Amino acid sequence: TSNTANTAPTTNAALYDAARAVIPGGVNSPVRAFGSVGGAPVSMVKAAGPYLTDAEGREYVDLVCSWGPMLLGHNHPAVVDAVHRAVDAGLSFGTSTPDELRLAELIAGKVPVDRVRMVSTGTEATMTAIRLARGATVRNLVVKFAGCYHGHSDGLLAAAGSGVATQSLPGSAGVTEAQAAETLVLPYNDRSALEETFTARGQEIAAVITEAAPCNMGVVTPEEGFNQFLRGITESHGALLIWDEVLTGFRASETGYWGLSGKVEGWTPDLWTFGKVIGGGMPTAAVAGRAEVMDLLAPLGPVYQAGTLSGNPVAMAAGLATLQNATGEVYDAITRRSQQLEQMLVGALTEAGVDHSIQRAGTLFSVAFGTSAGGVHNYADAQAQDTFRYAPFFHAMLEHGVYLPPSVFEAWFVSSAHDDSAMERIAAALPHAARAAAAA
Ligand code: PMP
Repeated sequence: TSNTANTAPTTNAALYDAARAVIPGGVNSPVRAFGSVGGAPVSMVKAAGPYLTDAEGREYVDLVCSWGPMLLGHNHPAVVDAVHRAVDAGLSFGTSTPDELRLAELIAGKVPVDRVRMVSTGTEATMTAIRLARGATVRNLVVKFAGCYHGHSDGLLAAAGSGVATQSLPGSAGVTEAQAAETLVLPYNDRSALEETFTARGQEIAAVITEAAPCNMGVVTPEEGFNQFLRGITESHGALLIWDEVLTGFRASETGYWGLSGKVEGWTPDLWTFGKVIGGGMPTAAVAGRAEVMDLLAPLGPVYQAGTLSGNPVAMAAGLATLQNATGEVYDAITRRSQQLEQMLVGALTEAGVDHSIQRAGTLFSVAFGTSAGGVHNYADAQAQDTFRYAPFFHAMLEHGVYLPPSVFEAWFVSSAHDDSAMERIAAALPHAARAAAAA
């Protein structure tokens, strides 16, 4: 599997070997490693519609969609056209641009935010939101929930989901005790834990940060009224509610997960974070919210935040074209395909006798093995599932041409490009995977 000096590696295994010599672990983001499922990660060279093609020329139906951004499928013609035009006009100006204004207005037209500040990653968005909350309240503590992932800034890595969960890490080395001590980690869906914490330390809490619906410990459906409870308890203690929709924004529904919770119940958070879909596959994210809080940002206020490539014109073009083409029909199609996928999955697992439950948040869902009795309501439930069934399940799907997230602690993503033939390929693969999971 090793490459010679003058032959570039072309198989997935050879690419992985070569990559490990120069890139830590061979990957540029740990969730891409096949750490919990085993084997060499697949190197992709091309994407179109619902499909990915790897370095060996094998095609897969993609159920990761770049971890969320590819709402319209890969290389949607309108997005690609917009990006081509933007590239021809210049890669980066380091100035204000008309397109960043249009994207900010588009976002503020879909969800109730007064101000939108573009950044390049979800990590920056949540980091900035935390700094804003501390600046606004002049308090230090932040409450987060075990199993929620908000990017890799120091204070938010305690008991984080996604790759931190996949690798069974309690947090991260390199985070100071002082920073860890300023993050209070509570179990998700647990109102009494919140009540106790606010009773004890309410005057010190700057914010509660929550995924609008957790999708990084697998999906965990917020219990009825839980998010509204978060809104109430933060408000009554003078703390802010930071609503992380990096993953769910403009994907869980047309108005994100807020459209299924706050919009229905009549409340709004103080600060929001977006990413993924608003960049349509290019690096863009945003922090947004009420004017009184957002206007504390420099240059208006004392809370500093900046970025050389923030609002990058090519990224703005991709995000604009994606959101402009995210019509009601697109969300209807994604909803229908996601439900169809769930039915197919449940059918195959039931047929093979694999105990499981499905957790859903709008168009997003995930499977958890061995959980049919109690379901999954928090991180402890997610960790207690039969995780060993996922590796054989994943590899059987991969072998049959379906690319799933290489970890059970992740949501499954579909796009509006997932058509009948893509669904048929998934349907053909599922029974093999279900039997492999049963045999584990
Ligand atoms: N918040 C949530 C809810 C996420 O899912 C993610 C990434 N998966 C982030 C924040 C961090 O975003 P990024 O990877 O762009 O830094």
